[in-house]
Amino acid sequence: MTNLKNRSNTLGGFSVTLVTLNEVLPLERKNCSALGAFMVWSFDSIFSVVDSAQKMGRPALMVVGDFEARKYMGGFRMVREMVDCVAKDYDIPVILHADHFRSFDSISESIESGFSSVMVDASWRSFEENVAETKRVVEYAHKYNVSVEGELGRLPGNEGDEEVTNDEAFQTDPEEADIFVKTTGIDALAVSIGTMHGKYTFEPKINIGRLCEIAKRVSIPLVLHGGSGTPEDKIIDAIHNGIAKINIGTDLLSVTAQTIATQQKIPDFRYSVGSLFLPARDALQRNLEYKMELFMAKR
Ligand SMILES: [Zn+2]
Repeated sequence: MTNLKNRSNTLGGFSVTLVTLNEVLPLERKNCSALGAFMVWSFDSIFSVVDSAQKMGRPALMVVGDFEARKYMGGFRMVREMVDCVAKDYDIPVILHADHFRSFDSISESIESGFSSVMVDASWRSFEENVAETKRVVEYAHKYNVSVEGELGRLPGNEGDEEVTNDEAFQTDPEEADIFVKTTGIDALAVSIGTMHGKYTFEPKINIGRLCEIAKRVSIPLVLHGGSGTPEDKIIDAIHNGIAKINIGTDLLSVTAQTIATQQKIPDFRYSVGSLFLPARDALQRNLEYKMELFMAKR
């Protein structure tokens, strides 16, 4: 893999130059494999994703939400600095991606702070508004060599859209997807094919037929959100039909929280970093490595 050490980022004097989705995802789609896009929320989780990716010989693709970056992690610049601090000791491609950003101001701020990729989420708007807003972001981001993921169709759960159900009517329309990709110039397309954000509140029914129709018309890498809890055979089917990026958040939070809870039930438990957070990080890394292996999708 490319040695990314000792290169400076023109945007802000960082030691590591991050890469974009364009440098990693087209190859994944071609090879029928996918990268996990792992949610990070702390220095620990950033370390875990980069360290696990290095062990597995994979690029490290980290995603962070607007709220989490601002309210919990000290802002976009701080997130970028944490990533830099970890990544400088590793030799793998690293991507820092803004996840589900809805405001243009947040998107431009994340780009100025050194993020290498952004997702503009205007899928809750009308098709025409989604096209216009996404196109605006693409024109801006591409000037800075930042990749852009757009979304078409809506997912139930945690997207601020209470009325979105698992009804097929909310899933991505293949004809619209074709027009959307051509008109906006996005680098990756998030589709809705029956997965859900957060924990499933219904039996997952993944619409592989719909995905195939989209994949026939759209050649750029496709993205599956709501990866947590999705049956593994469906994940593999999806990867073999154009999905090259799979967003994972809930599973990572859940393994971390559950390990911390379980540790405290051990007889003679004493509070220490070593008895709480080290086991949690080990469990998180095992989960990350399991998923990285799964997404290489041998079948
Ligand atoms: Zn999502």
